[in-house]
Amino acid sequence: MSLADLQAIECESVMRNYARLPVAFVRGEGARLWDDEGNEYLDFLCGISVTSLGHCHPRIVEAIQGQAGLLMHVSNLFYTEPAMQLSARLSKSSLGGKVYLCNSGAEANEAAIKLARKAKQGGDIVTVLGAFHGRTYGALSATPQESKQAPFAPMVPGFRAVPPEPDALAGAIDEQTAAVLLEPIQGESGVNVLSDELLSCARAACDKHGAALIFDEVQCGMGRTGALWAYEQTGVRPDAITAAKALGGGLPVGALITNRKLADVFAPGDHGSTFAGGPVVAAAALAALELTEDPFLLARVRELGALLANSLAELPHVLTVRGRGLMLACGLDVSAPEVVRRALLEQRLIAGATGPTTIRLLPPLIIDEMHIADAVQRLGAALDG
Ligand SMILES: *Cc1c(COP(=O)(O)O)cnc(C)c1O
Repeated sequence: MSLADLQAIECESVMRNYARLPVAFVRGEGARLWDDEGNEYLDFLCGISVTSLGHCHPRIVEAIQGQAGLLMHVSNLFYTEPAMQLSARLSKSSLGGKVYLCNSGAEANEAAIKLARKAKQGGDIVTVLGAFHGRTYGALSATPQESKQAPFAPMVPGFRAVPPEPDALAGAIDEQTAAVLLEPIQGESGVNVLSDELLSCARAACDKHGAALIFDEVQCGMGRTGALWAYEQTGVRPDAITAAKALGGGLPVGALITNRKLADVFAPGDHGSTFAGGPVVAAAALAALELTEDPFLLARVRELGALLANSLAELPHVLTVRGRGLMLACGLDVSAPEVVRRALLEQRLIAGATGPTTIRLLPPLIIDEMHIADAVQRLGAALDG
């Protein structure tokens, strides 16, 4: 089918909740994608931080194919090895408590919110402005953005958003607070790195008032910043983290991982999902986690992140560069959506816009110096317009 055919179907039969760019992809390998006419693209967005090990990584493909031919689904009424192994590995790799597997980032945050509320009944959830935690009602209620919340009011009660500043955050946390939920690096609002000072202030206030500190690492986790989990680079240890996006190596998997203290809050029947932790997605996630835990890969992410950030800062129309590792954004003095469109259609470089003047780059963690030089050259051409 041609792009025009697909667009005709979309017009007729597909809900209008996405504004797609006019390209239809049919194949991917590593940092490259091909469209339906055979054109090759350089992918510096990774399906929004999902295909972080590159498209169709052979070890992930092998894990999926092997498991799909063996067993695809039995529900959580029974045991399967991939789900148990994935949970053990996630716990060991981070906070040492227990793991709830699910199917997406929003679901991981829903689980975190429910867990925090059960641990401290009736408590509030404190969030910070600029946050994005997902589109389901609990996660949306924790996403203080007027344009996303207003059409769907009323929100779930008991959520409070404050500016991401130490004093404001400390002032908002009291005996009534069940949890503070935040992204150590805010992704959707344009790669805003929250300061270590803010995070340690949140840690101290949570300790003082018996609230849980939960980091949403759905976007910044899984090696994106040059550590397996972004919190490792902050000096602050949260009580729980949520993960998804790159966790499944391209398949939909999410997880809530707690420390020992919160490990046994859920009892049988409290929460669940039919598909959660299915053998195929869990096998894919195990392979992705094993590949991402490689210290050489993580060191390369830090090294290449610095190279990419420095190269971007040299480009025309780039006013600022921010981020950590290979999670970067540029503030522009021209329209970011237009630059992203030109980069895609004229330069065959995939990037994202997170606002009117912000471009976000989330390249695969397996790139090398040549990919960076190529991407910077293409982005430069798109910026010159
Ligand atoms: C993408 C994202 C989510 C939502 O994940 P979905 O899988 O789309 O539900 C939540 N939090 C953060 C930080 C994200 O980047």
